[in-house]
Amino acid sequence: MRRLALWTGLLAAACGGARAPAPANVASIEVTPPAAAAPSCGAGAFAFETMRSLADEVGPRLAGSPGDARAVAWALKTFAAAGFSSVRAEAVQAPVWQRVAESASLVEPPMSLAVAALGGSVSTPPGGVTGEVVRFESLDALRRTEADLTGKIAFIDVVTARTRDGSGYGQAVGARIAGASAAAKRGAMAMVVRSIGTEASRLPHTGAMGYDKDLPRIAAAALSTNDADLLTRTLKRDPHAKLRLSIETRTLPDAATANVMAEVPGVSEELVVLGAHLDSWDLGRGAIDDGAGVGLVVAAAHELLAGPKPARTVRVVLFAAEENSGAGGKAYAAAHAAEAARHFAALEADLGAGAAWGVRVLTASAQSNAARGLFSGIPDVEVLGADASGGADVGGLRALGVPIVDVMQNAEHYFDVHHTAADVPEVVDRAAMERAACVFARVTRTLANTDVQLGRVEEARRSKH
Ligand SMILES: [Zn+2]
Repeated sequence: MRRLALWTGLLAAACGGARAPAPANVASIEVTPPAAAAPSCGAGAFAFETMRSLADEVGPRLAGSPGDARAVAWALKTFAAAGFSSVRAEAVQAPVWQRVAESASLVEPPMSLAVAALGGSVSTPPGGVTGEVVRFESLDALRRTEADLTGKIAFIDVVTARTRDGSGYGQAVGARIAGASAAAKRGAMAMVVRSIGTEASRLPHTGAMGYDKDLPRIAAAALSTNDADLLTRTLKRDPHAKLRLSIETRTLPDAATANVMAEVPGVSEELVVLGAHLDSWDLGRGAIDDGAGVGLVVAAAHELLAGPKPARTVRVVLFAAEENSGAGGKAYAAAHAAEAARHFAALEADLGAGAAWGVRVLTASAQSNAARGLFSGIPDVEVLGADASGGADVGGLRALGVPIVDVMQNAEHYFDVHHTAADVPEVVDRAAMERAACVFARVTRTLANTDVQLGRVEEARRSKH
């Protein structure tokens, strides 16, 4: 056991975790080499294999697509095979959007650029649009401009900062979500955004966007970061440089999909909800987003099946349509509002496959310290003073006052491949994901069995600021 503990410490240090330095005589201590190291808990391998099964056997699964229907069938089969109870699908209606064709090129010198339509974008007029490009460094800069963009293409070249907690994404993503309407307000005929991603590559990152209902709807697309850099350099040489952009998409009537749920029965009817989203964007195979989250929560609950019955029931919810509408999370909160009081706590995994490094809680104020104390002994993990926020899918439960627990994962590399064609199992750091699975399992076991009460989150703290 001592060897294992030491090895775990070394791994954490290698991955940037805040650990004491290794003892000076470490070289003289016999440790198991990494290749031969066993997973540090039973949940690790199960989490990884579940992620890979979903990515390999289902692949892309945007809401309403044939892949989405395959994902629902996969989830039902996976839960049943793993021995869960109350396996079921609850109907969700979700918007359906399809990518048909997309291309972009510089007019002079003629050069093709790597581009992806943003989810929800309309098409350009047939044949595409060609126009001068006006560059902005941020969404705010575009919103502040008084320039007339009629007949032009707005380009938001916002850089996504690499951060451990994923906050760089939060700061940049507004340009993707709201850039098209901000550009349309100034008369632009299309909007391109630098991919909301942290890597330098030619892979464009798709993702959701929306339109202001009072403004014309113009096509919106993401350029790869390399191509955004090329466009910026070209504009420096020639401020009148033109871009040709052709986007073809389809919006179909809303379609039926489902939240897929399963339970580990507990002694009481109180519920601990573990959530992740089953859908993915269309370009990759949804390995890190959110096959990893699916693997982590299914494995955490699965661990409990082998032991004594937990005090509370653990319900795993694989949410539908997180990426293009959040319809699954909203449907769950609406369908289960009457039993909100049974929900002891909810936790969501949607930040990839990175190592876990922190835990945050959001409970009744009077219970915060006691709740934090529950997680203080978990290896590799610090308990943070800030409130948990929960992800998009448990937002509806949070709004009903249900306590939230966040397991913080290292997101430094998450946004390198997020929403791109490279979101495949090969990019997952298996050792980091397996260690994260152990933390999710430990947190789940604690929530399922603790005597500490978490209360209800006070009204004023239920919405995110
Ligand atoms: Zn996600």
